[in-house]
Amino acid sequence: MHVAQRFDFLIVGSGIAGLYCALLARQHGTVCVLTKGSIDECNTKYAQGGIAAAVGADDDPALHLRDTIEAGAGLVDEAAARILVEAAADRIQDLVTFGVPFDAVDGEVALGKEAAHSRNRILHAGGDSTGAHIEISLSNLAQMSRITIKEHVQVERIVVERGRAVALEALDTRTNVTTRFEGGAIVLATGGCGQLFRVTTNPVIATGDGVALAYRAGAEVQDMEFIQFHPTALRLPGVPIFLISEAVRGEGALLKNEDGERFMPGYHEKAELAPRDVVARAIVSEMARTRTDHVFLDITHLDATRVTARFPQIYRYCMDHGLDMTREPIPVSPAAHYIMGGVRTNTWGETTLPRLYACGEVACTGVHGANRLASNSLLETVVFAKRIVQRTAESADSAAPLTEDARELPPFGNEGGTAPDRASLQALMWDKVGIVRDGAGLEEASRQLWAWRAALPEPHDRPSHELANMLLAGRLMAEAALMREESRGAHYRTDFPEPVDAWRRHITFRRKV
Ligand SMILES: Cc1cc2nc3c(=O)[nH]c(=O)nc-3n(C[C@H](O)[C@H](O)[C@H](O)COP(=O)(O)OP(=O)(O)OC[C@H]3O[C@@H](n4cnc5c(N)ncnc54)[C@H](O)[C@@H]3O)c2cc1C
Repeated sequence: MHVAQRFDFLIVGSGIAGLYCALLARQHGTVCVLTKGSIDECNTKYAQGGIAAAVGADDDPALHLRDTIEAGAGLVDEAAARILVEAAADRIQDLVTFGVPFDAVDGEVALGKEAAHSRNRILHAGGDSTGAHIEISLSNLAQMSRITIKEHVQVERIVVERGRAVALEALDTRTNVTTRFEGGAIVLATGGCGQLFRVTTNPVIATGDGVALAYRAGAEVQDMEFIQFHPTALRLPGVPIFLISEAVRGEGALLKNEDGERFMPGYHEKAELAPRDVVARAIVSEMARTRTDHVFLDITHLDATRVTARFPQIYRYCMDHGLDMTREPIPVSPAAHYIMGGVRTNTWGETTLPRLYACGEVACTGVHGANRLASNSLLETVVFAKRIVQRTAESADSAAPLTEDARELPPFGNEGGTAPDRASLQALMWDKVGIVRDGAGLEEASRQLWAWRAALPEPHDRPSHELANMLLAGRLMAEAALMREESRGAHYRTDFPEPVDAWRRHITFRRKV
């Protein structure tokens, strides 16, 4: 292993959470960002719809809070959500200062609408290229700053000494050399885990590394059963999965089944703008009824110029694959999109392990509860990154309190088996831990994931580390989903189809170390 390098801040990940945190932290000490691909490989750059903030004349953070709590189906941490909505306008201003060019109309910021928001409050950039604009602005600035950026360096272990996170071991995936990086504060900003599922909007980096690293180090992990499946990803044979933003439905697009019938009014009073889990399940049931693998999203009744101006990226992508969305309906189906759970933090981004912080999609701050309100995730990254940097300046060794009933993943017997490949894991997760679940399928998935993990050789390169991390993150999801004997938010079980009051609580895992 190479000699240790030391920084005041070690930040893992170069999406919005990692870069924004690095840009703030540089005022307080030396900063190193470690990222396993090139700097712009992340979920952030694919974000389309935008970032939510109650900045409209008819809006108020209290309304944003109400919508967030309602979407979260009884599990939102109200204190954290209040911080989220009240800090939104200031953090948007920071992004503008960092160069993010939000769209404006007649000199006023343009505000879009998305499902389950009671007001138009989604700021966007480049129409539907919000994430790309954010990522480019922040990465340009970071590269011009005195921030050390280590690309193609995959963190494989958090080193814990005397009960504190003190260092990271990270593999340079081009030279195969492992280096120890020591840090005053370690921030996990590793993003989500959509790659655990066969159909996903997430890019290849989203393999749940942060959750696996934190769990192995003894930090708590919470709400892993709550995966948001986006209802509308483009479904064309041989074409990579591509998100069709909810904002398209916000603008008036209608969902129709194979027979050309609009079906959402029969499922929910808010029709196409019902919560994502409701729309995703309605689509699954329409696909089953009509025996197809897609439904249609129809926006042909809207003015073509408005559609192409508001959704230039989606329009171009569809045109590249022979589809003119202004003239014909788009075939779509649900895809794994976002994880509400993750590494448990308090409202300062502190995990239960001193000196380890988590921020962005990898974190579970509690603001999303059992279901995320659209466009709250980009907002969460900046609100809590700011608080992490504030906290490190004030207090070095504090941590989130431990959860009394946190449990360890249960072992199965020493079952033999063969090591899986990524595709088998994704198929298992999609079929058994996907949009519609049941106890038998979840048990089977957990057992299979355990057996696969037992058969896996010691990881030695990026793909094998990712596979090991995906197996662990998958088990945390399957076990939590098995324990939660009810349906709530994004978690739906056919054997327990209703919410149960006694389950209005979190499921938390912590490994004994
Ligand atoms: C298609 C799509 C559209 C979306 N649209 C919206 C939207 O309109 N509004 C909204 O609010 N949200 C949206 N989301 C969700 C939002 O984009 C993400 O939640 C957010 O960008 C996450 O940011 P992050 O910085 O936490 O993670 P990411 O942007 O995913 O960054 C994670 C970083 O960690 C690195 N990393 C991971 N593991 C390791 C490791 N072991 N070692 C080193 N580096 C590692 C990765 O390489 C990457 O650089 C969308 C997501 C997708 C996929």
